[in-house]
Amino acid sequence: MDFDLVIRGGEIVDPGSRLQGRMDIGIRDGKIAVVAPSLPLGGSRSTLDATGLVVTPGLFDLHTHIYWGTTYWGIEPDPIAARTGVTTWLDAGTAGSYCFPGFRRYVVEKSQARVFAFLNVSSIGLIAPTYELANLDYCDLGLARQIVDANRDIVLGIKTRIDVNTTRGVGLEPLRLARKLADDVALPLMVHIGKGPPSLKDIFTLLRPGDILTHCFTGHDNRILEPDGRLREFVRHAWDGGLILDVGHGTGSFSYEVAEQMLAAGMPPDIISSDAHQLSIQGPMFDLPTTISKFLNLGMSLADAIERTTAKPARAVRRPDVAHLRPGAPADVALFALDEGDYTFHDVFMTPRAAKVRLVNKVTLRAGKVMEPHPEQPFAPWSVLPDHQRPK
Ligand SMILES: [Zn+2]
Repeated sequence: MDFDLVIRGGEIVDPGSRLQGRMDIGIRDGKIAVVAPSLPLGGSRSTLDATGLVVTPGLFDLHTHIYWGTTYWGIEPDPIAARTGVTTWLDAGTAGSYCFPGFRRYVVEKSQARVFAFLNVSSIGLIAPTYELANLDYCDLGLARQIVDANRDIVLGIKTRIDVNTTRGVGLEPLRLARKLADDVALPLMVHIGKGPPSLKDIFTLLRPGDILTHCFTGHDNRILEPDGRLREFVRHAWDGGLILDVGHGTGSFSYEVAEQMLAAGMPPDIISSDAHQLSIQGPMFDLPTTISKFLNLGMSLADAIERTTAKPARAVRRPDVAHLRPGAPADVALFALDEGDYTFHDVFMTPRAAKVRLVNKVTLRAGKVMEPHPEQPFAPWSVLPDHQRPK
């Protein structure tokens, strides 16, 4: 037998590897062995028929919260991975230094999905919904450096949330500390924006090339557009210089008004991520394929959307070894139907948009194994959507 599994007849979409077209994938020992137009029948222990389906690298979600049971926001990755095609989950700062050893043991080591993390500059992380930065004593940089150095295989950056609900009166100081930490450990900094203060302009004075601005299509007052719809000049300047714009849809951070103006001006985001957490997976975000579908219906091509959920996030965190289908890569693969029909999607303000296509995951493989459906945890008692987002 040449292969453990052959995925046969699917439409491959892996823009990061310049692979597109009807091809077969041969998998051996949990890795991609070959991608070719037509592998001979009979050389494989098993076969997966992907006729009529889109076959992509397992998706890489750059903004998630998966520290279930320990934090306000955390969900379990595997049950959602199995039904969405997301095989690489980057936890965006749910864990700070004090709870990082537990994150490693109970989430990273226990999950079938691949898990990376950005360490929160606040040692308490996101145990509570708000104000993790209000007590600056929690920004213990010496401790954070030790945690990063002990976990370099999984800690790929530093995270900080800078808005009125996280800083409470300490202004830019936590961002200055996060900047220093990221520079000290030579990793990218992911900065969350939303409602000021601090103002977006002040926040941008501390961003550097290679940093990630998440919630880039927020509709709140720290939005990246001028009132007349033009991109703010200092945002343009930082973006041209190498800042990375990441969607991070979530419960409060995706505005159709902003997304439509950006796409109409030919300025798509660099990365599409979900900000999946206790609240957002109840809708209107739901999951990464739904978020991708919103962009498809705004006119983004499937290849551009898949690049923004595979190769681009992998490159942003300097892990080009994952989220592609080239021989030797872990066989993390997702099979999707591109369904056509009459759908309605919503942004976080529940602004509706009619849609004609929807990306629906059919099969997800991690390291060559099909991820089986898992029962999902009930929502936490505090996990209640804002009034305007509750289903009527
Ligand atoms: Zn988040």
